[in-house]
Amino acid sequence: MNIDLDTGKLVVFLGGLLFFLGIETLAPKRSWPESRLKRFLFHIGIAALNTVLIRLLIYVPLLLWIVFVEQQGWGLSRWLGLTGWLELAMSLVVLDLFDYFWHRANHRVTFLWRFHKAHHADTAMDVTTALRFHPGELIISALAKALWIVIWGPTAIAWFLFEAMVSLCAQFHHSNIDFPDRIERVISAMIVTPRFHASHHAVDRRYGDSNFSTIFSLWDNLFHSYQPPENDDSANRTENALGLPEARDQAFLPGAWLAEPFKSSNLILKNRNIDTSE
Ligand SMILES: [Zn+2]
Repeated sequence: MNIDLDTGKLVVFLGGLLFFLGIETLAPKRSWPESRLKRFLFHIGIAALNTVLIRLLIYVPLLLWIVFVEQQGWGLSRWLGLTGWLELAMSLVVLDLFDYFWHRANHRVTFLWRFHKAHHADTAMDVTTALRFHPGELIISALAKALWIVIWGPTAIAWFLFEAMVSLCAQFHHSNIDFPDRIERVISAMIVTPRFHASHHAVDRRYGDSNFSTIFSLWDNLFHSYQPPENDDSANRTENALGLPEARDQAFLPGAWLAEPFKSSNLILKNRNIDTSE
């Protein structure tokens, strides 16, 4: 069963990657500031490293943890007696809510930002940006996920569904694509769109410290962290307005990129301290 779910997640991942790669090639919103091949190879390299780490350190312990929590009968979902489709749907919503707060913490807590910054140092945004996460962030977030699992108590199927949806939605909202205003309004009222998320990657910190949602867009509205992306703002118009100004030179140097969170004089800390938005 678990092997089937795992394969399903891989199919969703590869299908989504190829699908959005194709669309952003046919109808890109922004031009790319650097070679797409360089971006692709750098980000695929990160994905390969992260996959190995996850397989070695995270995958099995988390799965055993889900089973253990289930055997103990722990978790709000079980206390509420949720089963079947209702459990799947509610788990998707609740885990996405946890993810929203976790993402917010990644921007607020200096220690977490050291790692999450590696994602935001990208100088552009396309489907390959969805692969760009520091291995340290994945390991730390596995601990957070262990906590979500014990609080909510999702079934293994619900957990795989959530992970597959996060992967697919991240590919979608990082894609270098856009919709006409009318369609954008309808989609972004429900889920996070590329335009919605481009604000989150804008160098302008007014936008960069907002729009934290991953799957459903309502959390930012509910918890007052939503910034409407202006269609004519620099983040959506020019390729130089995405990323972090102080990290542009190192965005594609593997050694510097991996070592950045561990530097004692972390430039980005300054950037965080002057950030007064929210
Ligand atoms: Zn972020």
